[in-house]
Amino acid sequence: MSATTVPTPINGTKNDSRVILGKDGQPIVTVGLKRFGFDSEVPLEALRELYMRPQYVQANSGSGAADDTGAKAIYHPNDGTISYTTLSRFPPVKFLPPSERKRILVTGGAGFVGSHLVDRLMMLGHEVTVLDNFFTGSRTTVNHWVGHPNFEMVRHDVVEPFMIECDQIYHLACPASPPHYQYNAVKTIKTSFMGTLNMLGLAKRTKARFLISSTSEVYGDPEVHPQPEDYWGHVNPIGIRACYDEGKRVAETLTYGYHRQDNVDVRVVRIFNTYGPRMNPYDGRVVSNFIIQALKGEDLTVYGDGTQTRSFQFIHDLIDGMIALMNSSETRPVNIGNTDEFSIGEFAEIVSEVVAKVQKEDGIVAPKVKIVYKPLPGDDPQRRRPDTTRAKEVLDWQPRWNVRMGVEEMVRYYKAKMAQGAL
Ligand code: NAD
Ligand code: UDP
Ligand code: UDP
Repeated sequence: MSATTVPTPINGTKNDSRVILGKDGQPIVTVGLKRFGFDSEVPLEALRELYMRPQYVQANSGSGAADDTGAKAIYHPNDGTISYTTLSRFPPVKFLPPSERKRILVTGGAGFVGSHLVDRLMMLGHEVTVLDNFFTGSRTTVNHWVGHPNFEMVRHDVVEPFMIECDQIYHLACPASPPHYQYNAVKTIKTSFMGTLNMLGLAKRTKARFLISSTSEVYGDPEVHPQPEDYWGHVNPIGIRACYDEGKRVAETLTYGYHRQDNVDVRVVRIFNTYGPRMNPYDGRVVSNFIIQALKGEDLTVYGDGTQTRSFQFIHDLIDGMIALMNSSETRPVNIGNTDEFSIGEFAEIVSEVVAKVQKEDGIVAPKVKIVYKPLPGDDPQRRRPDTTRAKEVLDWQPRWNVRMGVEEMVRYYKAKMAQGAL
């Protein structure tokens, strides 16, 4: 399907029929890119059906107790129990000849980014193994694939060695939200260092291509704006964010150590703030906090005076960039992020407007939410915006989603979960 095909409205939740327009004003019908002989294009609606689909049906709802993938999870409101049967049907995936089918390991595959990557790789017809300790991830994010012949889920902590045969490794395992990575700072450092060491050892032994999800946090509180990949950063090595920032910096150092010393074929993506459906609603990051607060009619909590900036990227753009990078020959770090920069104060306004619009469309009259100011956490970066020149040059990648479209998609996702009582 080409990106210029006239789209049919997407029907995810009640009253949710709309055409999603990209930054260039063109409708977004497919996501993914054809690059370097690797076609990752997938219809948006097929992905959307995976994250918008209900987690269960209600007993006596007259719906036949099975959704359109054949999943049978039936909630019995009378006694508050839920019954499950094994999934019997899966979304159709591309049929690849064995010579093209790759064995792909995704660490952290049950997390927010990982689960979207898994959906994409599965739809493209690859064999996917998810490795996760479920610290911040959840089986529910990928359980629509459990039982599929191309899918395997392993509960394992990357801090411990792990053996598997594979062709590609996407190494994502690491908590990403500040409250979660600060909850057990030493464990975060161990995950970044020992986890990455183990996965690099695995890549060395299997000769698998290795991609690590690094972060804009390697630039710290940057003195250069926007941040290009050759900026070395400005990080407080002993501050409360250091377990994550320095963890990722040493993970990158290890990655290039194995590249130079052992010829491991490496890819490094530096991800800037990303949001979207399946983000843990209570993980404390700003996008999920604001949307959940606005949907509940609570005050939006802006930390500091709200003049600090971030640039927010929608999940599908990130996955496009990650898959393109993995299949390119670029071994240098590549920033993947949206270049539209907002102050946190402005962003709070945008979220409250989008939530009000969706509520109005759904016939709900809700009072406008207020903004309250809370103390700014230590070492909070003042400004952040990616310089994406390299991604454009080497991957021909550019973000397509504008922030209002992306926030609306996430609002509809959370609303659907709330309507189910799953939030
Ligand atoms: P997430 O917390 O939703 O997902 C992380 C996943 O890793 C979870 O499923 C968690 O259970 C798993 N995990 C954590 N420690 C583990 C361990 N020791 N062993 C095995 N599994 C472990 O976060 P996310 O937003 O999906 O982030 C994924 C990756 O992307 C992380 O490496 C993060 O640093 C990076 N990243 C994300 C963003 C963003 O804005 N989302 C920005 C920059 C970088
Ligand atoms: N490792 C792993 N799986 C593998 C190969 C290695 O988890 O398939 C781990 C290994 O246990 C070690 C780390 O990766 O802790 C680094 O491996 P490498 O071979 O580079 O180092 P060495 O084992 O020689 O210290
Ligand atoms: N933030 C906020 N209110 C919240 C959560 C976060 O104002 O409820 C601010 C936070 O201080 C930071 C920005 O929003 O300046 C982005 O925070 P997030 O935790 O999402 O990501 P990071 O700081 O790692 O970029």
